[in-house]
Amino acid sequence: MAETHLHPLLDDGIKPGAAGFAGGTLSCRCERDQVKAKVESGIAHNHACGCTRCWKPEGAIVSVVAVVPRDKLKLGSNADKLQVVDPTAAIQRHACSVCGVHLFGRIENQDHPFYGLDFVHPELFAEPGAPPPGFAAFVSSVIEGGVRPERMDGIRGRLRELGLEPYDCLSPPLMDAIATHVAKQKGVLPA
Ligand SMILES: [Zn+2]
Ligand SMILES: [Zn+2]
Repeated sequence: MAETHLHPLLDDGIKPGAAGFAGGTLSCRCERDQVKAKVESGIAHNHACGCTRCWKPEGAIVSVVAVVPRDKLKLGSNADKLQVVDPTAAIQRHACSVCGVHLFGRIENQDHPFYGLDFVHPELFAEPGAPPPGFAAFVSSVIEGGVRPERMDGIRGRLRELGLEPYDCLSPPLMDAIATHVAKQKGVLPA
């Protein structure tokens, strides 16, 4: 079986993050006039994602994506190069119109369970030490991105080997958080 390359951040094994990582500057990958954003916070829920919408580097099977509080993300230079990839999507991914990197994803619907969180790709931080991914989400969706289904055993096996439990939706704690939000909106649980 061919070696399974998932993502440059994962392929050589997962490196631990630095204690006290507190964010930094995200940059797109243009050679000049890079779009920058400053994140004044650590990251949470860092994970590998197999969906077809998250940005990933060329050749990667999964993306690596985490969240930060939206009020801790400030746009910096060349922000006028950003374009929303799909304005109808729940997560509006703001991409550099030149290099295609997604600088951040934002939820504008205040009723969404994850409203208040922006999605960022930690590999775009200039500063090292972001905590590594802890699980893999939407793994079956890599097939929608063109991965042959017979590779899935190898892909899930490699994720487990890296310590990233593969899920075909989000992880149980995040699925529980979504369901709790919905139950509170419906009044089934006290708000
Ligand atoms: Zn760019
Ligand atoms: Zn995704």
